[in-house]
Amino acid sequence: MEIFEGQNILNFIKELPNDEACKAYLAKIKWQDGFACMKCGHSKGCEKSGYNYHCYTCHHVESATANTLFHKVKFGLQKAFCIVFEMSTSSKSVSSIQMGKRFNIRQGTAWYFMQKVRKAMESSQKYPLSELVHVDEFTVGGKEEGKQGRSYDSKKKKAVIAVELNKKHQIKRVYVKSINDYSAKSLTPIFEEHISEKAQIVTDKWRGYEPLKEKYNIEQKLSNQGKNFKELHIVIMQLKSWLRAIPTHVSKWHIQAYFDEFCFRINRSQFKQRIFHKTIERMINAKPLYHKNIKQTLSV
Ligand SMILES: [Zn+2]
Repeated sequence: MEIFEGQNILNFIKELPNDEACKAYLAKIKWQDGFACMKCGHSKGCEKSGYNYHCYTCHHVESATANTLFHKVKFGLQKAFCIVFEMSTSSKSVSSIQMGKRFNIRQGTAWYFMQKVRKAMESSQKYPLSELVHVDEFTVGGKEEGKQGRSYDSKKKKAVIAVELNKKHQIKRVYVKSINDYSAKSLTPIFEEHISEKAQIVTDKWRGYEPLKEKYNIEQKLSNQGKNFKELHIVIMQLKSWLRAIPTHVSKWHIQAYFDEFCFRINRSQFKQRIFHKTIERMINAKPLYHKNIKQTLSV
Protein backbone atom coordinates (compact mmCIF):
# COMPACT_ATOMS: atom_id res chain seq x y z
CA MET A 1 0.00 0.00 0.00
CA GLU A 2 1.22 3.42 -0.99
CA ILE A 3 0.97 6.79 0.71
CA PHE A 4 -2.24 8.56 -0.36
CA GLU A 5 -1.49 11.65 -2.42
CA GLY A 6 -3.64 14.35 -3.96
CA GLN A 7 -7.07 15.83 -3.39
CA ASN A 8 -9.20 13.67 -5.66
CA ILE A 9 -12.10 12.26 -3.65
CA LEU A 10 -12.74 9.40 -6.09
CA ASN A 11 -9.14 8.19 -5.76
CA PHE A 12 -9.43 8.59 -2.02
CA ILE A 13 -12.52 6.33 -1.85
CA LYS A 14 -10.89 3.85 -4.22
CA GLU A 15 -7.67 3.58 -2.22
CA LEU A 16 -9.27 3.58 1.22
CA PRO A 17 -12.62 1.89 0.54
CA ASN A 18 -13.51 0.59 4.03
CA ASP A 19 -12.62 0.53 7.74
CA GLU A 20 -10.15 -2.30 7.24
CA ALA A 21 -8.15 -0.48 4.57
CA CYS A 22 -7.96 2.55 6.86
CA LYS A 23 -6.79 0.41 9.76
CA ALA A 24 -4.10 -1.10 7.54
CA TYR A 25 -3.01 2.43 6.61
CA LEU A 26 -2.73 3.39 10.30
CA ALA A 27 -0.84 0.20 11.19
CA LYS A 28 1.66 0.77 8.40
CA ILE A 29 2.46 4.28 9.59
CA LYS A 30 2.39 3.45 13.29
CA TRP A 31 4.87 0.60 13.03
CA GLN A 32 6.94 1.84 10.11
CA ASP A 33 10.02 2.06 12.34
CA GLY A 34 9.23 -1.17 14.17
CA PHE A 35 7.08 -2.02 17.16
CA ALA A 36 7.43 -0.55 20.65
CA CYS A 37 4.88 -1.92 23.11
CA MET A 38 2.87 0.90 24.70
CA LYS A 39 2.57 -1.08 27.97
CA CYS A 40 6.13 -2.29 28.56
CA GLY A 41 8.20 -0.58 25.86
CA HIS A 42 9.73 -3.80 24.50
CA SER A 43 10.14 -4.14 20.79
CA LYS A 44 9.77 -7.89 20.23
CA GLY A 45 6.41 -9.01 18.97
CA CYS A 46 4.47 -10.03 15.93
CA GLU A 47 1.70 -8.58 13.86
CA LYS A 48 -1.61 -10.36 14.31
CA SER A 49 -4.70 -10.41 12.19
CA GLY A 50 -6.85 -7.30 12.29
CA TYR A 51 -3.79 -5.04 12.31
CA ASN A 52 -2.94 -5.62 15.96
CA TYR A 53 0.50 -6.24 17.42
CA HIS A 54 1.19 -8.90 20.04
CA CYS A 55 3.99 -8.09 22.50
CA TYR A 56 6.15 -11.16 23.34
CA THR A 57 7.24 -9.68 26.66
CA CYS A 58 3.96 -8.69 28.35
CA HIS A 59 1.51 -10.33 25.90
CA HIS A 60 -0.41 -7.11 25.47
CA VAL A 61 -2.21 -6.88 22.16
CA GLU A 62 -2.06 -3.36 20.83
CA SER A 63 -4.36 -2.09 18.10
CA ALA A 64 -3.29 0.31 15.37
CA THR A 65 -5.50 3.02 16.86
CA ALA A 66 -4.34 2.62 20.49
CA ASN A 67 -2.43 5.57 21.93
CA THR A 68 -3.24 7.79 18.92
CA LEU A 69 -5.88 10.42 18.19
CA PHE A 70 -7.94 7.63 16.55
CA HIS A 71 -8.29 5.88 19.89
CA LYS A 72 -11.91 4.84 20.52
CA VAL A 73 -13.37 6.39 17.41
CA LYS A 74 -16.83 4.85 17.57
CA PHE A 75 -18.21 5.71 14.15
CA GLY A 76 -15.72 3.73 12.08
CA LEU A 77 -12.31 4.54 10.69
CA GLN A 78 -13.44 5.20 7.14
CA LYS A 79 -15.71 8.04 8.28
CA ALA A 80 -12.87 9.34 10.47
CA PHE A 81 -10.53 9.29 7.47
CA CYS A 82 -13.13 11.08 5.34
CA ILE A 83 -13.40 13.85 7.95
CA VAL A 84 -9.61 14.22 7.99
CA PHE A 85 -9.64 14.30 4.17
CA GLU A 86 -12.29 17.06 4.12
CA MET A 87 -10.52 19.12 6.77
CA SER A 88 -7.07 18.85 5.23
CA THR A 89 -7.88 19.23 1.55
CA SER A 90 -10.96 21.44 1.11
CA SER A 91 -10.29 25.14 0.76
CA LYS A 92 -13.37 26.17 2.73
CA SER A 93 -14.01 25.38 6.36
CA VAL A 94 -16.64 22.76 7.08
CA SER A 95 -18.79 23.04 10.21
CA SER A 96 -19.43 20.10 12.52
CA ILE A 97 -23.14 20.38 11.60
CA GLN A 98 -22.36 19.82 7.91
CA MET A 99 -19.82 17.13 8.73
CA GLY A 100 -22.37 15.32 10.92
CA LYS A 101 -24.96 15.35 8.15
CA ARG A 102 -22.50 14.24 5.52
CA PHE A 103 -21.30 11.19 7.45
CA ASN A 104 -24.46 10.43 9.42
CA ILE A 105 -23.03 11.07 12.86
CA ARG A 106 -24.20 13.42 15.62
CA GLN A 107 -23.00 17.02 15.39
CA GLY A 108 -21.38 16.76 18.85
CA THR A 109 -19.55 13.57 17.87
CA ALA A 110 -18.28 15.25 14.70
CA TRP A 111 -17.18 18.30 16.69
CA TYR A 112 -15.15 16.28 19.21
CA PHE A 113 -13.40 14.35 16.48
CA MET A 114 -12.71 17.54 14.52
CA GLN A 115 -11.10 19.03 17.63
CA LYS A 116 -8.78 16.02 17.68
CA VAL A 117 -7.84 16.65 14.06
CA ARG A 118 -7.17 20.30 14.93
CA LYS A 119 -4.96 19.12 17.81
CA ALA A 120 -2.81 17.29 15.25
CA MET A 121 -2.64 20.50 13.21
CA GLU A 122 -0.96 22.45 16.04
CA SER A 123 2.43 23.85 15.11
CA SER A 124 5.43 21.77 16.14
CA GLN A 125 7.27 25.07 16.75
CA LYS A 126 10.33 23.54 15.09
CA TYR A 127 10.50 25.90 12.11
CA PRO A 128 10.27 29.52 13.28
CA LEU A 129 9.68 32.28 10.74
CA SER A 130 13.10 33.60 9.82
CA GLU A 131 12.82 36.02 6.90
CA LEU A 132 10.79 39.22 6.58
CA VAL A 133 7.99 38.92 9.17
CA HIS A 134 5.06 41.30 9.60
CA VAL A 135 3.27 41.20 12.97
CA ASP A 136 -0.05 42.82 13.89
CA GLU A 137 -2.97 42.44 16.26
CA PHE A 138 -6.63 42.06 15.26
CA THR A 139 -9.99 40.94 16.61
CA VAL A 140 -12.47 38.31 15.44
CA GLY A 141 -16.10 37.61 16.27
CA GLY A 142 -18.54 39.90 17.99
CA LYS A 143 -20.53 42.41 15.98
CA GLU A 144 -19.77 43.31 12.38
CA GLU A 145 -16.74 45.39 11.67
CA GLY A 146 -16.66 48.92 10.41
CA LYS A 147 -18.83 50.59 13.04
CA GLN A 148 -17.53 52.81 15.74
CA GLY A 149 -17.13 51.77 19.35
CA ARG A 150 -16.69 48.07 18.64
CA SER A 151 -13.28 47.68 20.15
CA TYR A 152 -14.77 47.08 23.60
CA ASP A 153 -17.25 44.46 22.40
CA SER A 154 -16.75 41.68 24.94
CA LYS A 155 -17.60 38.98 22.36
CA LYS A 156 -14.63 39.95 20.25
CA LYS A 157 -11.55 37.80 20.63
CA LYS A 158 -8.14 39.35 20.38
CA ALA A 159 -5.36 37.74 18.41
CA VAL A 160 -1.88 38.43 17.10
CA ILE A 161 -0.68 37.31 13.68
CA ALA A 162 2.81 36.85 12.22
CA VAL A 163 3.15 36.56 8.44
CA GLU A 164 6.42 35.61 6.74
CA LEU A 165 7.00 37.13 3.30
CA ASN A 166 9.52 36.18 0.67
CA LYS A 167 11.59 38.69 -1.32
CA LYS A 168 8.72 39.26 -3.75
CA HIS A 169 6.41 39.97 -0.79
CA GLN A 170 4.47 36.78 -1.33
CA ILE A 171 3.03 35.07 1.73
CA LYS A 172 5.16 32.11 2.81
CA ARG A 173 3.87 31.08 6.22
CA VAL A 174 1.50 32.32 8.89
CA TYR A 175 0.99 31.84 12.64
CA VAL A 176 -1.89 33.20 14.70
CA LYS A 177 -2.21 33.25 18.46
CA SER A 178 -5.19 34.04 20.65
CA ILE A 179 -4.33 36.66 23.30
CA ASN A 180 -6.15 38.23 26.28
CA ASP A 181 -4.86 41.77 25.75
CA TYR A 182 -2.29 43.72 23.75
CA SER A 183 0.33 44.00 26.49
CA ALA A 184 3.98 43.14 25.82
CA LYS A 185 3.53 40.08 28.04
CA SER A 186 0.68 38.77 25.90
CA LEU A 187 2.47 39.57 22.64
CA THR A 188 5.68 37.75 23.66
CA PRO A 189 4.61 34.08 23.15
CA ILE A 190 4.06 34.33 19.38
CA PHE A 191 7.63 35.65 19.10
CA GLU A 192 9.08 32.93 21.33
CA GLU A 193 7.15 30.11 19.69
CA HIS A 194 7.13 31.11 16.04
CA ILE A 195 9.68 33.81 15.16
CA SER A 196 13.44 33.42 14.90
CA GLU A 197 15.69 36.01 16.50
CA LYS A 198 17.29 36.33 13.07
CA ALA A 199 14.07 37.44 11.38
CA GLN A 200 13.61 40.96 10.10
CA ILE A 201 10.38 41.94 11.86
CA VAL A 202 8.06 44.86 11.08
CA THR A 203 5.21 45.95 13.39
CA ASP A 204 3.05 49.05 13.68
CA LYS A 205 3.88 51.73 16.25
CA TRP A 206 2.12 50.00 19.17
CA ARG A 207 4.22 50.36 22.34
CA GLY A 208 3.56 46.75 23.38
CA TYR A 209 6.29 45.66 20.93
CA GLU A 210 8.97 47.93 22.37
CA PRO A 211 10.28 45.58 25.12
CA LEU A 212 10.66 42.84 22.50
CA LYS A 213 13.25 44.94 20.65
CA GLU A 214 15.87 43.84 23.19
CA LYS A 215 15.87 40.35 21.74
CA TYR A 216 14.35 40.74 18.29
CA ASN A 217 15.19 42.82 15.23
CA ILE A 218 11.99 44.92 15.10
CA GLU A 219 11.28 47.93 12.93
CA GLN A 220 8.15 49.90 13.85
CA LYS A 221 6.29 51.62 11.02
CA LEU A 222 3.08 53.60 10.78
CA SER A 223 0.41 51.32 9.45
CA ASN A 224 -0.76 54.00 6.95
CA GLN A 225 -4.29 52.57 7.10
CA GLY A 226 -2.99 49.09 6.48
CA LYS A 227 -1.05 50.01 3.31
CA ASN A 228 2.27 49.08 4.89
CA PHE A 229 0.91 45.69 5.92
CA LYS A 230 -1.07 44.78 2.84
CA GLU A 231 -0.31 41.04 2.70
CA LEU A 232 -0.93 40.63 6.40
CA HIS A 233 -4.37 42.20 6.06
CA ILE A 234 -5.22 39.88 3.18
CA VAL A 235 -4.52 36.91 5.44
CA ILE A 236 -6.63 38.42 8.26
CA MET A 237 -9.53 38.84 5.80
CA GLN A 238 -9.15 35.20 4.69
CA LEU A 239 -9.10 34.03 8.28
CA LYS A 240 -12.22 36.04 9.12
CA SER A 241 -14.21 34.75 6.19
CA TRP A 242 -13.04 31.22 6.94
CA LEU A 243 -14.25 31.54 10.54
CA ARG A 244 -17.58 32.97 9.39
CA ALA A 245 -18.34 29.73 7.57
CA ILE A 246 -18.43 27.99 10.95
CA PRO A 247 -21.95 28.66 12.22
CA THR A 248 -21.48 27.18 15.67
CA HIS A 249 -20.35 29.61 18.32
CA VAL A 250 -16.56 29.63 18.54
CA SER A 251 -15.79 30.03 22.20
CA LYS A 252 -12.79 31.95 23.40
CA TRP A 253 -11.44 28.68 24.80
CA HIS A 254 -11.41 26.95 21.46
CA ILE A 255 -10.51 29.68 19.02
CA GLN A 256 -6.82 28.73 19.12
CA ALA A 257 -7.69 25.32 17.66
CA TYR A 258 -9.39 27.01 14.67
CA PHE A 259 -6.39 29.31 14.22
CA ASP A 260 -4.09 26.26 14.23
CA GLU A 261 -6.20 24.57 11.56
CA PHE A 262 -6.19 27.69 9.39
CA CYS A 263 -2.39 28.13 9.65
CA PHE A 264 -1.70 24.41 9.09
CA ARG A 265 -3.53 24.58 5.76
CA ILE A 266 -2.01 27.90 4.64
CA ASN A 267 1.50 26.78 5.59
CA ARG A 268 1.12 23.61 3.54
CA SER A 269 -0.54 25.10 0.49
CA GLN A 270 2.63 24.28 -1.46
CA PHE A 271 2.51 20.67 -0.26
CA LYS A 272 -1.18 19.87 -0.83
CA GLN A 273 -0.35 16.53 -2.44
CA ARG A 274 0.62 15.03 0.90
CA ILE A 275 -1.41 17.12 3.31
CA PHE A 276 -3.88 14.30 4.08
CA HIS A 277 -1.09 11.80 4.75
CA LYS A 278 0.78 14.33 6.89
CA THR A 279 -2.32 14.94 9.02
CA ILE A 280 -2.89 11.21 9.54
CA GLU A 281 0.78 10.80 10.48
CA ARG A 282 0.50 13.59 13.07
CA MET A 283 -2.68 12.04 14.48
CA ILE A 284 -0.84 8.76 14.98
CA ASN A 285 2.15 10.38 16.62
CA ALA A 286 0.03 12.56 18.93
CA LYS A 287 -1.16 11.29 22.29
CA PRO A 288 -4.87 10.42 22.58
CA LEU A 289 -7.16 13.24 23.61
CA TYR A 290 -10.14 12.37 25.78
CA HIS A 291 -13.42 14.29 25.67
CA LYS A 292 -13.12 15.41 29.27
CA ASN A 293 -9.72 16.95 28.51
CA ILE A 294 -10.57 18.68 25.26
CA LYS A 295 -11.70 21.94 26.81
CA GLN A 296 -8.72 22.28 29.16
CA THR A 297 -6.13 21.04 26.70
CA LEU A 298 -7.14 23.30 23.88
CA SER A 299 -7.69 26.34 26.01
CA VAL A 300 -4.04 26.84 26.88
ZN1 LIG B 1 4.63 -5.31 26.13
